[in-house]
Amino acid sequence: DFASDLFYLEELDIAPLHKDFNRFSYKGEMGKVLLVGGSPGKMGALVLCAKSALRTGSGLVTCHMEDSERFVIQTAVPEAMASWGLIPNPEFYDAVGIGPGWGIENRARLFRQFLHDYNKPIVIDADALNLLAKNSDLVALVPKNSILTPHIGEFTRLVGTAQNHLERIVKAKEFAIKNELIVVLKGANTVISMPDGRQIVNSSGNKYMATGGAGDVLTGMITSYLGMGYPPENAVLCGVYHHGLAGELASRKKRRSMIASDIIEAIPDTYLQLN
Ligand code: AMP
Ligand code: MG
Repeated sequence: DFASDLFYLEELDIAPLHKDFNRFSYKGEMGKVLLVGGSPGKMGALVLCAKSALRTGSGLVTCHMEDSERFVIQTAVPEAMASWGLIPNPEFYDAVGIGPGWGIENRARLFRQFLHDYNKPIVIDADALNLLAKNSDLVALVPKNSILTPHIGEFTRLVGTAQNHLERIVKAKEFAIKNELIVVLKGANTVISMPDGRQIVNSSGNKYMATGGAGDVLTGMITSYLGMGYPPENAVLCGVYHHGLAGELASRKKRRSMIASDIIEAIPDTYLQLN
């Protein structure tokens, strides 16, 4: 039965999910995060993702891209490290987010290799979702409890068409259960589907978030919480809620002028509000 597994996500639910850190913490304990993405002409997605992960709290962020683009990251995000070529030691990272701005040409091999080498839950967004849709055998290789963050277009490519949004939400639930994955169906009132069949509707965010790069910011936030040791469920709930709240706070001043970078700059305000 549908309604009994449906929940509404509010500020009250989020505060208790946050981890505390002791005063002896060092950067290596605050989450070593790897973000894979970017391509010529779409490096901004990876830049936003990296900045977002750092603002959310990650201790160490590494961006992986093709070698021709590494200077973009090094200048746009001096706090982040850059890596290129193969991913020699994936298990080193506490969390991995993959897909923003990545493109799909010649990416399937690296993705497949990575999925063979890495066993912890990951965050899959954008072109990594499109790769899963094109190479459906890859879905079985995705670690259990990984987090998929499709907008409606990406969802349709991966899971299939739906007549209306209710049917889409039912399909998201079935997909999450069947593949033991967490599905974040983005939009106004993002719907999170858990592998146990629960579905959670987010209450934060507003229409001013309909702007390029907003989703890349979300990927950085969820990956950041995952890297800080939040269980995948809590990483998703905190990421989705804080992302929407940051959008609300930033848009108070910016209204329709808000851009994705403004959402990142408002992440600190979300922490002030919750504490
Ligand atoms: P993407 O399409 O990948 O850039 O992701 C867009 C992000 O902005 C998602 O997190 C959406 O939930 C959010 N977003 C887009 N439009 C709206 C809206 N009208 N209301 C609330 N959030 C939105
Ligand atoms: Mg996106």
